[in-house]
Amino acid sequence: MDLNTIDFSKKQGFICDMDGVIYHGNMLLPGVKEFVAWLRKENKRFLFLTNSSERTPRELQQKLARLGLEVGECHFYTSALATAEFLKKQAPGCSVYAIGEAGLLNALYDAGITMNDVNPDFVVLGEGKSYSLDTLTKAINMVIRGAKLIGANKDTTGPIENGICPACRALIAPIEIATGKKAYFCGKPNPLMMRTGLRLLDCHSEDAVMVGDRMDTDVVAGTETGMDTIMVMSGVSTMETVLTYAYRPTLILDGVGDIPKIDAAQKRERAKAAAVKEAEEAAAPKA
Ligand SMILES: [Mg+2]
Repeated sequence: MDLNTIDFSKKQGFICDMDGVIYHGNMLLPGVKEFVAWLRKENKRFLFLTNSSERTPRELQQKLARLGLEVGECHFYTSALATAEFLKKQAPGCSVYAIGEAGLLNALYDAGITMNDVNPDFVVLGEGKSYSLDTLTKAINMVIRGAKLIGANKDTTGPIENGICPACRALIAPIEIATGKKAYFCGKPNPLMMRTGLRLLDCHSEDAVMVGDRMDTDVVAGTETGMDTIMVMSGVSTMETVLTYAYRPTLILDGVGDIPKIDAAQKRERAKAAAVKEAEEAAAPKA
């Protein structure tokens, strides 16, 4: 591996996808604790970013705590928060009909958006158990009457124990088909979500790294925002899937646990180079 593809001493901010990078289902991935300890020791700023709109930052914090990782609420950013931020900017004080879980509903309330199941300005869809033929039919008729259609994210499927479940993109498709209207999506790979992430970290894109396990969301989002990208093989992608895309990650690693190791190797190389330079200068004849 080329140790110098990304100079970790120069990077100030890390935006990390969660599923497949930090955990897999209810299992913390190997090397994650070391990675987070390294982020703290090196004073790096970091954000865990997820396209799932189901959980609030507090619930995500509690989930990681149950898995044995203590990280403050301020380190989480979800597609629900990105959606609420988008609506707050585009249409302050608007009303929505939302199909989703606490993560989405809380984010919308916190952004000053009200719920309306008669004539909302927007129909907003996340994922979750409130989705039914009844709520779907309601949403379709609201869109036909003029409500704009917003999806929290473009994920087509999510993992469950015995296979997959339909995610936001698949759940919103029936509304698009029935109404002939296209939804707008706020989560990854929408660069809006990445730019907000960078702003939360107070970090320029050149000084930040996006870490993820998917080419079609994480790597493309990081690339289009001007960040270096790290693809980890601890999630859903294989080397074959990586090679099918026109863009490529800056670095491919087995998992985030490799990052502290590479940084340590880079530090050793720099110390060695500095020692050689010092010896050369000492040996050089004085002018
Ligand atoms: Mg992932």
